[in-house]
Amino acid sequence: MSNATEEQIKRFSTMDDNIPARDRVIAWPRMGRIDIPLKALLTNLGAKIVIPPANSNEALEIGVKNSIEGICLPYKLNLANYIQALDKGANTLMMFQAPGSCRLGNYTKMAQKTLKTMGYEFDMVIFDMYRNKMIQTLHAFWHVTRCINPFKYIKAFGLGFTKFFAIDCAEKMLLYYRPREINKGDAESCYNKWLEKIDKCNSLIKAQFLCSKIKKDFKKIKINKKKEVPIVFLIGEFFVLLDPYTNQHIEKELGDMGVEVRRQIMFSGWLEHVLKPSILYKKESHRERAVKNASKYMKRAIGGECIETIGDTVYAAKNGVDGVIHIMPFSCMPEIVSQNILPKVSREENIPVLSLVLDEQTGKAGYITRIEAFIDLVKRRKLQSKKS
Ligand code: SF4
Repeated sequence: MSNATEEQIKRFSTMDDNIPARDRVIAWPRMGRIDIPLKALLTNLGAKIVIPPANSNEALEIGVKNSIEGICLPYKLNLANYIQALDKGANTLMMFQAPGSCRLGNYTKMAQKTLKTMGYEFDMVIFDMYRNKMIQTLHAFWHVTRCINPFKYIKAFGLGFTKFFAIDCAEKMLLYYRPREINKGDAESCYNKWLEKIDKCNSLIKAQFLCSKIKKDFKKIKINKKKEVPIVFLIGEFFVLLDPYTNQHIEKELGDMGVEVRRQIMFSGWLEHVLKPSILYKKESHRERAVKNASKYMKRAIGGECIETIGDTVYAAKNGVDGVIHIMPFSCMPEIVSQNILPKVSREENIPVLSLVLDEQTGKAGYITRIEAFIDLVKRRKLQSKKS
């Protein structure tokens, strides 16, 4: 994606400027708890915002009704979020854009056209994340708020970023504690309590201590340390991984089955890699790790998270992970490619892999049955390898 041409960037980047900053009411699509840091960021720059409701059957119905059938699931939900936000008074829609080889590059333009045809009046602010990323991001936030106070930017971005990291910290703790907890629901309540605290925190200094406080609090939960807990990598397309409604709360289902989930895409990791200038980014990025591990099966990235899916599976096999669950939206172009390569990777690297395709037709019962059968296999395999 990084090799997007100038023409592509010009074609995809749009920042409408028809509404004065003081009259703007800003909204963006839902994806997991992205609303918490974005709210902190925008309100600290003085913006008025509308947060559409979390994704739900109602949102899906709206999205399906107003989209072409073959488009991928994330688009349908994004469109529904825009409609719900516009109905609640939003007049400025924000979205990042990634010109490249999957449909994401066309999402916002398609949504913009559909919403205009439906009669909505609004400004669309699209900023691409693949060229001068930090400058593009700052420019987009200045564009919608016209804030020129540098101290406000320091607080807004500081708080926003810290909250992304704090949410990921709470999620990682939840994924570890849920399969091991003695009293069912302890980890979930601790997580929900911290989400509220993260949301309410409006002090940059206090925000720096969120992660250590979250860890300390989770450590109070009683767990069974001797329990045999299989470890499963959760990999696949970005949106379905990060939005619990879309992936039918797969992490909770797996945790309740006694499995520790290690999701390979966390918002903070992605954000850090995308926004930090490469000179300051010292760690090996997820993409770099994936390219290295996938090299036997795939020579270059072809869009979306395709190469990460292959690379993560090889990495899981090399690192003693018990199984891999791959999730993707129906008709997702890059993940269809990885789905077809995965059986070979699974055979050659000797690791069980389950691929699950999600769309508006996916029934919960069948979905859970497939996951349960896979987890039975993973547990049996783990037991056998311990005996031998
Ligand atoms: S990665 Fe797949 S689901 Fe996501 S935008 Fe691209 S085609 Fe759609």
